[in-house]
Amino acid sequence: MGLLSGKTALIFGVANDHSLAWGIAQAFHREGARLGFSYAGEVLEKRVRPLAESVGSTFIEPCDVTKDDDIAAVMDQAQRAFPGGVDVLIHAIAFANRDDLSGPYYVTSRAGFHLAMDVSVYSFTALANAALPLMRPGGAMLTLTYLGAVRAVTRYNVMGVAKAALEASVRYLALDLGQHEKRIRVNAISAGPVRTLASAGIAGFKALHTQFKNMAPLRKNITIEEVGNAALYLCSDWAAGVTGEIHYVDAGYNIVGVPSPEESA
Ligand code: NAP
Repeated sequence: MGLLSGKTALIFGVANDHSLAWGIAQAFHREGARLGFSYAGEVLEKRVRPLAESVGSTFIEPCDVTKDDDIAAVMDQAQRAFPGGVDVLIHAIAFANRDDLSGPYYVTSRAGFHLAMDVSVYSFTALANAALPLMRPGGAMLTLTYLGAVRAVTRYNVMGVAKAALEASVRYLALDLGQHEKRIRVNAISAGPVRTLASAGIAGFKALHTQFKNMAPLRKNITIEEVGNAALYLCSDWAAGVTGEIHYVDAGYNIVGVPSPEESA
């Protein structure tokens, strides 16, 4: 028996086999979950379909999370594909204009701010609301965040502000959905830097990725497999008493106050 045997998970945000969501999908598949995938555009379908099929999934549906109709349509399809309901919702989606992830934060445009908040923050609330009728009692929802929500990280800019709002959303959703008759748990994983399509859009990411392992207590970068295993815990009954949490999977980076003298020399 796997940790997720008999459970169904809907996963939003697999772009390719480097995606954090793919690490989560693999861990869930290993532990017996039935999986459904949603992708953003036609280009992505070519990459997502073979990945989804490799873990036995036939539910592969498009959804641009900025469109309410897309969200409603994908949940409709899910209801038909999984008549017994869904146990887990994974939200691994974020976007900001490349220009807003380079210079100083204060030049962020109103449109760029709205876009980052819409795709990276509101989409989790919208998906949670739309998925609720499908969720089985005791289910779990999970999103992905980053340290830039609680510390100022050079060039993370508007995405840091968006992640702060996303983390606040986790707490409000946890409060509401914990009291709902279905008692749904809502958590986030705050992951260390991983090379993905999304992170490639952040100016200076390569240096940040390299520097990270020199400062993290475990002296290593994290992997999507580690994110997947932490997600497995948070979305399984092992975490039945855990909700509203921001769980760091960052080799301990966030606990360090001052780098060791040899690293800062
Ligand atoms: P990724 O593989 O590029 O995944 C990001 C996903 O978001 C892609 O599938 C992307 O699709 C999707 N997306 C963007 N706009 C969308 C829209 N309007 N509708 C639907 N989907 C949309 O990158 P990732 O690094 O795994 O990112 C997953 C999550 O982890 C994000 O929330 C990210 O902020 C978070 N995170 C990443 C890191 C890291 O270092 N990589 C660290 C901490 C947290 P398109 O490619 O079509 O845009």
